[in-house]
Amino acid sequence: MKLSFHGAASCVTGSCHLLDVDGFRILVDCGMFQGPDEIFSSNLKPFGFEPDSISAVLLTHAHLDHCGRLPFLVRQGFRGPVVSTAPTRYLAEIVLWDSAHLQEERTAENSGPKKNGRKGRSSGSGGRKKHGSFYSVADVLDAMSLFTRTAEYEVPVNLAPGIDATFYNAGHILGSASIQITVSRPGKRTRILFSGDLGPKTHPLLAPASPPDDSDYVVMETTYGDRLHRSFESSKDELLGVLVDTYRRGGQVLVPTFALERAQDLLFFFREWRDGGKLPGKEPFFLDSPMAISVTHIYERFPELLDDRLKKFFQQGKDPFMFPELQLTRSVLESRSIKESSARSVVLAGSGMVSGGRILYHLGREIENPRSSLVFVGYQAEGTLGRAILEGEKTVRLLGAEKSVKIGLHSINGFSAHADQRDLLAWCKQMGAPEGVFLIHGEKRSLEGFRDKLSEIGWNKIRIPSLHEEVVLSERPTGKARPDPLEGA
Ligand SMILES: [Zn+2]
Repeated sequence: MKLSFHGAASCVTGSCHLLDVDGFRILVDCGMFQGPDEIFSSNLKPFGFEPDSISAVLLTHAHLDHCGRLPFLVRQGFRGPVVSTAPTRYLAEIVLWDSAHLQEERTAENSGPKKNGRKGRSSGSGGRKKHGSFYSVADVLDAMSLFTRTAEYEVPVNLAPGIDATFYNAGHILGSASIQITVSRPGKRTRILFSGDLGPKTHPLLAPASPPDDSDYVVMETTYGDRLHRSFESSKDELLGVLVDTYRRGGQVLVPTFALERAQDLLFFFREWRDGGKLPGKEPFFLDSPMAISVTHIYERFPELLDDRLKKFFQQGKDPFMFPELQLTRSVLESRSIKESSARSVVLAGSGMVSGGRILYHLGREIENPRSSLVFVGYQAEGTLGRAILEGEKTVRLLGAEKSVKIGLHSINGFSAHADQRDLLAWCKQMGAPEGVFLIHGEKRSLEGFRDKLSEIGWNKIRIPSLHEEVVLSERPTGKARPDPLEGA
């Protein structure tokens, strides 16, 4: 049995791992390399294996860095089944469509006439100019037709004789899973657990991760393996404070929002504050992102997978994400009409890093208004307009016009959908020490920091694989199972 690492090896993007069991080849995740040009260009490089040799793809969740290269894999010859939870299938469809659409747009942009005389940081570049499309909307359609197997949490899915995959809640985004692959042979049983991305212990919408009791090998993410998040509650309080202060000044609150997960977190907070009388009046909220609206409707379809507090809303016939003051502005016309009611309101719009999307129009209108607020609630990558503004750029170019940054700036960092070091360790402690651990999906500092922490809890056989590295896993004999608890009773 061989395990190889074709993405998220010593970095945090492009998750893609291959388990070869006597020629039955299982790919766990097929993620896009996200980032500036030098990282993004990795998407066009060979996978490190023959796409048509893959027997099945298992997806841990629908974030682009875990599923974003799937249409490219299909374009290159993969024809096997894709196995995922039901929400991951629906969310991946939205995410992949959006990705194909953005790639096509970028190709059109790159092949258009060059604009000269740009001054300062410009909107829409996202730090990327050279690389265009590596798959199309048609490839996404082909990929979606392969989602033929649906996994329920904790119910094994048979992949081939003696090979099963069981999905466990990872508490990261809706439908996210850790996947344990069990290979059974006469006298042997080997269990390999892929953590996927793990959520924080106190997730606003989801129950915390629940891994299986034991695994022989664990392939584990360490995105925040070297640090602790700021308290979630204090971040919520800070955001509420920004809303109240901005309303008092008669301004508007703009929140560049990631469509998947963060937008739904925020809608639920707003609903709680509104119901609890924490907001001054009946100020309007706008969810101005067609993608976030679609994603929210998928969250509404799976109340059984949400946290108990949200389940209670559905049981009472209420929707935890919707309230009378919230307007869903799907069309461009509706989006443009927001300016009529601009004061004392909140606008959630993409993109989350201000590298494109409708947030640009709202920002163009409000950026020179000191009464309004711009609130960053997620990571702003290098090369994006969001990062430039956050780092104090005084003038920016927005939709062709030079603008001074006078809007109030806030960055609230405690809303991560990722486990921090404490949460990751707590996840490990729910299991017995495995025979081998592979740390992935982290920067060097994080991987090494977390390796040291794991040794403290007795997890010792730890390896940090490099890109395309292959390791042979020895199969485990079944004889050494733990003693039967009923024996001698
Ligand atoms: Zn993720």
